[in-house]
Amino acid sequence: MPRNNDHPRSIHCPRCGYQLESSIAASEARGEDNGRCSECGLELAWSSLREVQTDPIWFVESRIAPRHLLRRAVETLVMCVRPFAFWTRISMGIPLRMRGLLAFLLVVALVGHSIGVGGRVIRNTRYNWLKRTHPTANLLFAIVSPASNHFASTIIDTYARLGTTDNVGLAMAFVRAALLEGDMVLTATNNGQPAFVVAFARAPWLVDPPTTRRLFAGALVPMTAPLLLLLLPISLGRARVRRAHIVRACAYSTALVLPCFVLAIYATHAHWYMTVGTTNLLGRLEPHVITIFAAAIVVVWMSAISSRYLRMSHPIAVGCACTTIATLISLMTSAAMFGAL
Ligand SMILES: [Zn+2]
Repeated sequence: MPRNNDHPRSIHCPRCGYQLESSIAASEARGEDNGRCSECGLELAWSSLREVQTDPIWFVESRIAPRHLLRRAVETLVMCVRPFAFWTRISMGIPLRMRGLLAFLLVVALVGHSIGVGGRVIRNTRYNWLKRTHPTANLLFAIVSPASNHFASTIIDTYARLGTTDNVGLAMAFVRAALLEGDMVLTATNNGQPAFVVAFARAPWLVDPPTTRRLFAGALVPMTAPLLLLLLPISLGRARVRRAHIVRACAYSTALVLPCFVLAIYATHAHWYMTVGTTNLLGRLEPHVITIFAAAIVVVWMSAISSRYLRMSHPIAVGCACTTIATLISLMTSAAMFGAL
């Protein structure tokens, strides 16, 4: 057994952080190879705490890193599709790596933006947007700002009606449109005369305002469920789980916002009732469809975290409890924003 006797490093329980040297010494004196953490009850093979664990090669926080960080971030995101396989392969012993987590969040943001661009292209297609006066500008503007409900051609043509060639003014109009302003008044001074013209927001919504609020509420389910592990110390054994695990679970849970975003784009496209529902039961549930969908995937995700990663004793119950409370938080937020459930 290779040990570093020059710099004896303290050995902690990977789940709760409890110092284990004396327990291990006592256990090994009795001739045992494995045992339980005396604080949280986690079953451990003592040798596994001394060896550098074999980290998955695709994992963005992996300590063996032959591949580029961003490539591993993409692979990690792809692995999230199978939550049980994902959390089985990640060991609690792998230390948190902020660079890895930031790379993962960057990839989630980029994929989210790409989904937005894809949705924008589909939404715009029936408006013949590429047959308008400035098709290339339309496409570029959709790539830069997919959530804007302006066509670049409308802004360029409207601005031209001011009779000015002030490119700074035109650039400012694009910035305002990209920042999701609706109908805009464009102004210029032409030969000393003030002129104004209205650029109407004519492109269809990528995600309309009520659905945006429902998406925000729905995203609270994956974003709060891992935090709720902090409220369940009893289910984690006698000890609380280390914060590093909660941080890690929260970071990878951002991936679950992506399918919710896809659903929000589809709900806007299909004109679902997202402000108020109709009177029957199914109609009443319709505005909450993103929250319900999020809860369905989060319950699987949280069960995978508690069983495969944190190795708790009642993983399904823990997963259900965290998801239920997170869903209630989401519904209460929705109710606060819309004034009714
Ligand atoms: Zn422990």
